[in-house]
Amino acid sequence: MENVSLRGVKVVDVHAHPFTESKSPESPVSFLRKLSLSVIPEMFSSLEGIEKHQPYPGSNMWIQILLRNMATYYSCEEDLTAIVNVRNQKAEDYPAYTKELFRDVNLVGAIMDFGYPQPPVDHAEFEGMTGARIWEISRIEPIMVSLATKNLNFDDFINQYRKRLQDDLKDDQVVGLKTIIAYRSGLEVFDMNKEDAEKDYEKFVRDERVPAKAFRDYCFHIAMEACTEADKFMHIHTGIGDGEVVMTKASPSFLLDTLRKEKYKDTKVHLVHGGYPWMEEAAFIVSILPNVYMDISLQNPFSGHGVERIISQVLELAPFDKVMYGSDAFTVPEMNWMGVKLFIDCFERVLNEWVKKDYMSSEKAKFIGEMILYRNFEKIYNITV
Ligand SMILES: [Zn+2]
Repeated sequence: MENVSLRGVKVVDVHAHPFTESKSPESPVSFLRKLSLSVIPEMFSSLEGIEKHQPYPGSNMWIQILLRNMATYYSCEEDLTAIVNVRNQKAEDYPAYTKELFRDVNLVGAIMDFGYPQPPVDHAEFEGMTGARIWEISRIEPIMVSLATKNLNFDDFINQYRKRLQDDLKDDQVVGLKTIIAYRSGLEVFDMNKEDAEKDYEKFVRDERVPAKAFRDYCFHIAMEACTEADKFMHIHTGIGDGEVVMTKASPSFLLDTLRKEKYKDTKVHLVHGGYPWMEEAAFIVSILPNVYMDISLQNPFSGHGVERIISQVLELAPFDKVMYGSDAFTVPEMNWMGVKLFIDCFERVLNEWVKKDYMSSEKAKFIGEMILYRNFEKIYNITV
């Protein structure tokens, strides 16, 4: 029986964020901070007094796996200072280093959320730095925030907001819109209610971070309508993310009532992060709604060894042609690189187990691997890489 190998298969990452070239060398602590999903810089403060085999305070499995892989890749000692030293040398030519890492894992394309970081990174510049093809989604929240400063009445706000979405969706590089409503008022989106939305709009104008739920729900529906008209994708952040998330309303099950509405039966929806840690809910939703898809980003690579379990769990129910690879990488190219390496490593183990159990041939297992790494993206987004 032949072992299934996915090494060298081309990869498209359907959810990540652009990053800027870092102009100065990293210190061990500053590098650790960039690797942390917690986005709480204080998590890593000092490495003083650390014993030889002691993990760095605040570090977890993902960081352990990344540092070990970097040490192997650089042929250096698995020691943070040694690793960061080599890294700093390589990163002197940041675009060359970024391209090298993308090429090493055959990462040929990515859908990027330019909504983070702010102010937005330049698309063409970033694409040039990675050597990969980059597509964009346009985040609705920064658009809402910028229009809210213009002193518009509610109707004018809504008209201009709708127009901005429609204009963004006309751009060939933009594959859809994205919402992070899960960070603000949660995924239990109610029907449009203009009266309540108008009241909440006033609150939003005063403070863009307030829940203002009826207003956000209203804007969510307009974005769904714009995607439906343009036949592009609505990306919805599902599951956990940074510490701001409305965790009690972040699981994909809250979306089901909205997604199965008759008016959205043709709307293409992409569940970003596959609802982690509620990925089985996302897997169920994509198994019953023809135009809803999911990715395995954020959980990959940030759950470390958990990626193997997650791939297996998602594919318990999700159709093979509804799931796509993702990383949510957001600060340094090592994240994009490790995302692919870890995913492939874990996926191969899952696939080989299926072959061993005689659920399928190794050829079919490999094809499923290719589907999730790039073929599904090509088919779903109708883009050939
Ligand atoms: Zn993201």
